[in-house]
Amino acid sequence: MAQTGAQQPTFADLELLSEVSQLLTLLDLDRVLQRAIRLAAKSVGASKASLFLHDEFDVDWGHIFVTRDMTPDESVRVVRKVLDKGLAGWVLRHRQAAIVHDAETDERWYVFPDDDYKVGSALCVPLMMNQQVLAVVTLVHPEKNHFTEYHLRLLMIIANQATIAIRNAQLFNRLQAQQRQLETVLQAIPDVLFVLDVNGHILMINDAAAEFLGEQTAANIIGKHLGAYSSTSSTLLPIFEAAQNDTPGTGAPWAFEVRSERKKRDYQVVISVWRDVVHGLEGYVVAMHDVTTLRDLSRFKDEMLRIASHDLRTPLALIAGYADLISIDLDPQSTTQEHLEVIRRSTERMNGLLDDLLRVEQVKRSPLELHEEVDLGALAAEVVAETRPLVARKNQELSADLQTAALPGVVVDRALLRRAMENLITNASKYTPEGGHIRVRASAADGRFHFSVEDDGIGIPPEHLPHIFESFYRVKDARAGNVPGFGLGLNLVRTIIERHKGEVWVESQVGIGSKFGFELPLK
Ligand code: ADP
Repeated sequence: MAQTGAQQPTFADLELLSEVSQLLTLLDLDRVLQRAIRLAAKSVGASKASLFLHDEFDVDWGHIFVTRDMTPDESVRVVRKVLDKGLAGWVLRHRQAAIVHDAETDERWYVFPDDDYKVGSALCVPLMMNQQVLAVVTLVHPEKNHFTEYHLRLLMIIANQATIAIRNAQLFNRLQAQQRQLETVLQAIPDVLFVLDVNGHILMINDAAAEFLGEQTAANIIGKHLGAYSSTSSTLLPIFEAAQNDTPGTGAPWAFEVRSERKKRDYQVVISVWRDVVHGLEGYVVAMHDVTTLRDLSRFKDEMLRIASHDLRTPLALIAGYADLISIDLDPQSTTQEHLEVIRRSTERMNGLLDDLLRVEQVKRSPLELHEEVDLGALAAEVVAETRPLVARKNQELSADLQTAALPGVVVDRALLRRAMENLITNASKYTPEGGHIRVRASAADGRFHFSVEDDGIGIPPEHLPHIFESFYRVKDARAGNVPGFGLGLNLVRTIIERHKGEVWVESQVGIGSKFGFELPLK
């Protein structure tokens, strides 16, 4: 222990310093603080010591250490007072250490009226990091003039070490808290979640993922490869490998849908990359959302549509046939002829609807006719030429800007793509008043074919845009009120384009016009 007034470091002081450096090995904040304060008191032969940890803006009330017995309530009261009027407050405000040689005369020393512990002298140092006071340590002695400049320097050395140790422990505490938060969040999510390293080894999972793998606990799973489990090797692994080959991408997550035949469930899978600022790509986060109910509903709807369309054909044909028969027997001038005409038109309309319904289903199910290389520029020109008469009937102007001279031939289903282009042009005409303008553009850029149709028609309110490609979706708008249609055309366009691995898009403003388009990979 240091001797009062000693100017040279003693062996005991050096031993103490080595003990202080041991603080750095502790990660538990409470233990670091307790040891630090004990060592500080020991180093200068203080009879009592206290430490207030300052947590950025205020005293961290959970971390006040005093080497004398005080109830928590009492220590809060004392700390408030000394920070207000006492030595620790002075040190905190001035950010510098202070020695009080005579506590009776030095006004920085606040004497509690009910305190029977006599203080002769005191020493107080701030623990500083980045210009911030992290903590304040106060040491007292019953005699006056106990503390010397040497004590102050020794304490400063201890304080420096203790500051780093406290900071370490605080950071470790914070990391642990964040880790616990993350784990709680992971477990709270009902989706299957995997965190993988760059090679596909499992680093972290939630309970739903453990169950998906057929394991009771996460402990057996960590470190294993995604391919080690039959439930993932057939479903997830191929997708994961595709994503791996695609990396480093733009950072946008990959989204796929997979069906686990073993579990008889469908999942929407999203794979995102997680990166470390220093090391770059570190691995992947895989989230699997169970969409079985949605898919079952969708399959049920498709099946119902298919059955209904087939079963309705026969009675419809009968109705149309009998209407024709009756018409033959009737006087051509009879008013019943008009009624029969309404029946005929209605059955035609219903037949049209059934055609549209079955067409989307057919495009979804049947293989694409990919026998030939198609010149998409020439196809666009053909479609423009064929739709001209229709557009002319509404006195609309149709212009085409087809920059497709050097376009390579592409293997696509010609009939389907023709239909997609036609649909966009006829829609533009349908939803644009007489005398409007329609502009068709086709070009190639970045290895993709771009096709768009722009009109200056009625436009689409923004809330409808996200749904416009869904089947049976129509905008209920007075201006489009009498335009016939079933809301299946754009769904067909999307189905066709997606089957060709392309994408559809739309931009529109009410009263100004719409622009629909798609792009396809040229390979
Ligand atoms: P349909 O035209 O048979 O109703 P679509 O699927 O082709 O079916 O279109 C769905 C809806 O999208 C239409 O009912 C219409 O409200 C809107 N729409 C499509 N094209 C345009 C367009 N060019 N301008 C404005 N609205 C459009």
